This record gives sequence, C-alpha cells and structure tokens, in this order.
Amino acid sequence: METITCPLCHRGNQDAVITEHGYTGCLCPECQVIYLSPRPTPEETLASYRQDHACVPASMYIAKTCYQTLHNRLTLRLLRRYCPAGALLEIGAGGGFFLEEARAAAFSVAAIEVNPTQAAAMRAKAIPCEEQALSDASFGGQHFEAIYHCDVLSHFSDPLETFRRIHTRLQPGGYHLFETSNFGGVAPAGLRLVNTFQLPDHLFFFSPHSLRLLLEQSGFALVALYRYAETWHLRFAAALRAARRLLAPAGPHRDTAIPAALHLDDPLHRAYFHLLYFARYDLGRLTAREQQPQTLIVVARKV
Ligand SMILES: [Zn+2]
Repeated sequence: METITCPLCHRGNQDAVITEHGYTGCLCPECQVIYLSPRPTPEETLASYRQDHACVPASMYIAKTCYQTLHNRLTLRLLRRYCPAGALLEIGAGGGFFLEEARAAAFSVAAIEVNPTQAAAMRAKAIPCEEQALSDASFGGQHFEAIYHCDVLSHFSDPLETFRRIHTRLQPGGYHLFETSNFGGVAPAGLRLVNTFQLPDHLFFFSPHSLRLLLEQSGFALVALYRYAETWHLRFAAALRAARRLLAPAGPHRDTAIPAALHLDDPLHRAYFHLLYFARYDLGRLTAREQQPQTLIVVARKV
C-alpha cells in the first residue's frame, strides 16, 4: 500500500468523501478530483488485472452484448466527426468490440490490454495487441491519428504521466478521445446514488474542471465535452436490483440487476441492455445537470 496526494496540485490530507471495501477516496476541493489514499501500489494494481482479481472479471468484457454494440457505434460516430480514418489505438480494449467496429469503418487498429484473457480474445480477431502499459517501444514506436480509452482513466496509477505518454504517441494534431465519470465534481447527494465505486480498482474520479487541468498539464486542448446524466440508469438498475432481492433473497448474484445465468441473446437480457443504453445515453444526453452523476465523453487534440 502507498499514500498519495492530489495528482494535479499535490496537496495532501484532504477530506474523505467515499469509503468502500475498507478504502477511502479523498477530495481535493481546488482541483475537484477524488483520489484513493492509501491505495495498492502500481505493481499490485497491475498484478490484479493480470491475474483477473479486478472487481469486474475478464469474462464480462469478452461477452458481447447489444449494449456494447450501441455504445461502440455512438463512440465511433463521435470519433469520426473529428478523425474520419487513420491509425487508432485503444488502451484497455477489453474484448476488442470497439476496434472491430472501427476496423470495419477503415481505421487501422491496435490495442493495449494487460489482462491475458482479453488480450487473447483480441488476437483471435487478428487485432494487434500488447499486454503492457503504453511505452515508447509499443507497436515499434508507431504514432497514431487517434488514441481512445473508455472507463480506463480511473485505473491509471499516474494519470498525468499516462496522458503525457499518450501525447507523445499521437501524430501532430492527433485526437485523444475518452470516456469517464464526473464523480470528482458531484455533490454528496449525487454520490449516494452510485451503487459501487469499484474500489480499489478505481484510483481516481475526475470532473469537467479537473479534466481540463489534466489535459492542459499534458499538452492537450479540449475540443468537445459530451455529457450524459447517470441518474436515470442508476435508478433503473437500483429498482431492478431491489426487485431481484425481493424475488430471490438468497443466492450468489442477488445484488446484480439481472440473473447472471441468463443467456446474452435472451429477449429479456436484450430488452434490459436496450433500456439501460436508452436511459444512459439518449435520456441522459437530454438531462445532464451540474453536480449530478454523469458520463463524460471527452475529445481533446494534441497541441
Ligand atoms: Zn488538487
């Protein structure tokens, strides 16, 4: 375990705003970033993903759902507004479903994925994949027109150092597109809506303000920020979990919204994922509010 300070201003000993699984998230009120401290060392964090000890197991990422298909198409639409084609790298690419969509749309694709099960799933689809953090040697030193990551920023042990590395691996004027939550700028009542923060997998939570600071300090200009309210889909999932606990009070998966044994092609499963996507990205796009939980899709450009 190690103790850290705010990753942006380096002040320490700040107030705890989240506690879960024996871990504490501290808020820097200046920068609006929540950081886990004490936390596992970077070596321990990396080992947990390699050995599949993370909160979400690898098997969840390599099973494709209609939710992923809808989400990947949304992401690709947004990416192509700024970068219509070229070499695209995804960090933490999971089962490689987004890169499959991007390859079909004329991008040449590559992946970084430290979990061996997910990396093997990508190689089976002929997607070039390295099982290590992004380094100068990755992909023979190739530079990319775009680098993408989704729900990965919270897992970087050193976000500023990683963003600077992404910056060096982009072509001049290249695009950095990513998706993350805004919990660093959310009021306590909004944080109480969140079922789990997945500590200690998640090491940081940023806000629009702290993301701007992070991008400035790593050499990026913010191009666009798309906001999607999380409140609808959090309430929808909470209602389903409550219903399941009522109907099946015992059993290993009683806290999940849908039965884990249900096949992904089951109509009930598909309906659930369609509703979840609609609540998060369609309804959420129209109802995003300051200080309420949101999903943010950020487009930044290398300057
Ligand atoms: Zn700070």
